[in-house]
Amino acid sequence: MDKDIKYCDHCGLAVEVEGFELKTKQGDKRFCCEGCKGIYQMLHEALLQQGANDESEPTRS
Ligand SMILES: [Zn+2]
Repeated sequence: MDKDIKYCDHCGLAVEVEGFELKTKQGDKRFCCEGCKGIYQMLHEALLQQGANDESEPTRS
């Protein structure tokens, strides 16, 4: 049996409850609780912002 233990990307504790996840430009992050997720979200707001123009933007002329 695999024990695929994840660790909180904010505080480093083992993640025992699923569901506190964020998708970022650097991949999915997991957190042990809503609090850690919220703090990470504030600290890394730029990383989380969608719609960055690294892909070609549709332009109309
Ligand atoms: Zn945590």
